[in-house]
Amino acid sequence: MPATTESILDAAVDGGASTLAVRRTVFHSMLAGTAINEARISELTGLDPGTVKGTVDRLVAAGIATTDGAKGAQRLVDGAEGLTIRNSGHTIWMSGSELHTWCAFDIVGIPAALGLDATGSTHCPTCLTEIKLEVLKGEVVESEVAGWWPALSGGPVVEAFCPSASIFCNLNHLEAWRSATGARGTPRTLTELAQAGRTTWARFRA
Ligand SMILES: [Zn+2]
Repeated sequence: MPATTESILDAAVDGGASTLAVRRTVFHSMLAGTAINEARISELTGLDPGTVKGTVDRLVAAGIATTDGAKGAQRLVDGAEGLTIRNSGHTIWMSGSELHTWCAFDIVGIPAALGLDATGSTHCPTCLTEIKLEVLKGEVVESEVAGWWPALSGGPVVEAFCPSASIFCNLNHLEAWRSATGARGTPRTLTELAQAGRTTWARFRA
């Protein structure tokens, strides 16, 4: 399945059945705007608490989940696969929930993958202007804004990829940032980001 092997999320962890069950459960909890503790993940997946703990540990190490750091079965997963209940500066309104995302790419990529309506808000790293984004039934509304696809450098996804997966007012603002930072990566249109999103979150389609 070439579409899923290119997903940076899928590439970060093993593809075993219990890993996938935990990822799906946590992702859908995030979509509903709710953090979820390990006891509840165990209940919903039917996996024993030890397996859930080990899996959450691996997701955190890979940078595709975050927790509140509590110990034991009450540890709350509060972010996963690009969605977070922590205020991040990137906001998305989708399926009746106000959610936050790890990066600007998620705002476009997640509703594109799920075929949902969404509106989002992020800020141009160059001029700090707010950028509004709109997705209709998974199709992005194209504009002159320019996305940045960071070159993959390894390391946990939330730390290595997300901080610079930004969206800029236009290509000029992207190029100004690129020459100031020396960042390595590729400019992408919103349509290209949406396509990348369909690959990245293919696992989470209903
Ligand atoms: Zn700008």
